[in-house]
Amino acid sequence: MILFPYGPARPRIPLLMRVMRSIFLYIWAFPNTCIGIPFIFLALIHRGYFRITDGILEISSPLIDRFLHHCIPVMGGASAMTLGHIILGRNPDCLDSARIHEQVHVRQCEKWGPFFIPVYFAASFIAYCKGRDPYLGNVFERAAYEKEASERTENDTPGKSCIKTEHQ
Ligand SMILES: [Zn+2]
Repeated sequence: MILFPYGPARPRIPLLMRVMRSIFLYIWAFPNTCIGIPFIFLALIHRGYFRITDGILEISSPLIDRFLHHCIPVMGGASAMTLGHIILGRNPDCLDSARIHEQVHVRQCEKWGPFFIPVYFAASFIAYCKGRDPYLGNVFERAAYEKEASERTENDTPGKSCIKTEHQ
């Protein structure tokens, strides 16, 4: 028996349609991305690390490390955070280890656009009202953690110098 190695054939979307869709998603998510733009300058000022992965700008710097550690209201701070098409990380290892999780949030930003942040906080409030943890019970976080758990292999462990904490 011969198995088709690439699974069932999917309809191909014409290149122009894909490009138009990508442009629309960048524009739709841009209100969230705008919040991340000042962090680009913060990283440019002092020892910034920049990388583009799958069309998403990943940045880290010592100043971003301090911001994520002290300004994000989760225990121990956050190791990474998504703002539209920008992912902030405490260091490059954190960006690597949080990539799967944070890319789920990027897709959520692309889906909800300017409504993402209010809807995210509403989801935390709903979780809290149901007696769940406002962070871990948030449906957006649960989706990100489920995707991370399904894609992470035993060899794919977090970076050595990444602070393993909750990330948004
Ligand atoms: Zn998250």
